Amino acid sequence: MQIGVLGGGQLGRMLALAGYPLGLGFRFFDTAPEAPAGQLAELVVGDYADEEALARFAEGLSLLTYEFENVPLAAVARLAQSLPVYPPPGALEVAQDRLAEKTFFQGLGIPTPLFYPVQTHNDLLDGLERTGWPALLKTRRMGYDGKGQRLLRSPADLEAAWAQLGGQPLILEAFVPFERELSILAVRSTRGQVAFYPLVENHHEKGILRKSLAPAPATSARLQHQAEELARRVMERLDYVGVLAIELFEMEGVLWANEMAPRVHNSGHWTLEGAETSQFENHLRAILGLPLGSTAPRGRAAMLNLIGQRPEFARVLEIPGAHLHWYGKEVRPGRKVGHVTLRADTPEVLQADLRRLEAVLAETKD
Ligand code: AMP
Repeated sequence: MQIGVLGGGQLGRMLALAGYPLGLGFRFFDTAPEAPAGQLAELVVGDYADEEALARFAEGLSLLTYEFENVPLAAVARLAQSLPVYPPPGALEVAQDRLAEKTFFQGLGIPTPLFYPVQTHNDLLDGLERTGWPALLKTRRMGYDGKGQRLLRSPADLEAAWAQLGGQPLILEAFVPFERELSILAVRSTRGQVAFYPLVENHHEKGILRKSLAPAPATSARLQHQAEELARRVMERLDYVGVLAIELFEMEGVLWANEMAPRVHNSGHWTLEGAETSQFENHLRAILGLPLGSTAPRGRAAMLNLIGQRPEFARVLEIPGAHLHWYGKEVRPGRKVGHVTLRADTPEVLQADLRRLEAVLAETKD
């Protein structure tokens, strides 16, 4: 069976690696000829507006999925005429626009930061009356890894932020003084079977995910339940199929939704070694209507992204419990080029391995 994937980045590459043992074949579509999935599967290179390239890509596929959420909806709609597409394009539509996304969460009774749509400078001033300071001004579309957003600490920050972001649809959000950032990964199959991974604790550097701890330390059953119930509501409303990630803020025992990704997610990479079934395999099982695999953790895991750096592989691999994933991308500053997962049976061992890994990465910065 041949599965088509829109986007040929590392997420696609890891999907293929998880799919080969299940006897699946893959074809990717990407605008970049050097997309890393192309190193291990067929890659069709083209523009999303190029109908001929899309038709060539779709030829002989059994179903279609995607590995990044900024795929143009028109291309997905075109392909959906001849192929089943999972997750449903409706989920993509909501996730592509921060305003639609927050409005959607609000409609489901899921707490979100206070938000206000901004088109004009006056809207921004009106919005700030409601959110107060500090606040975050973000582009509604195409934002990722902290790009396209500015923190407004005081009126002194206003004009520079407007000069940078003004003139496109924006959203203003109240700044949430959260205690920590978590994410929940959920999966739902074409048969309506649902499973949840344990909550993950995420740490960012310069807006980019740097470290995930899984299961999130010091998490109560009540908090896990809260996360599962909100993810369940989202999936049911969207008639969702596949893996879904929701990024959350924890504040005083309450989970607030920040954003969602209708795809496999960086904060789920730990599942490759740290869970009974990885997010990648479960995504494939879900879209194929196969029974979902167990999401139970295997001990404890930490995942560190390699951002713009190539550590000496031997130094990483001599750490017990270290698993290296190199994506085959050119190393550039700020670019995710690989990750390392540490897996251990106890928190003490995990902490010791983490200290060693962090020391190796600090030495090989850039
Ligand atoms: P985003 O691109 O919306 O995921 O934002 C990137 C990062 O900015 C998040 O992971 C948070 O660390 C921070 N952030 C985003 N929105 C808010 C908010 N409303 N309040 C506080 N921090 C935020």
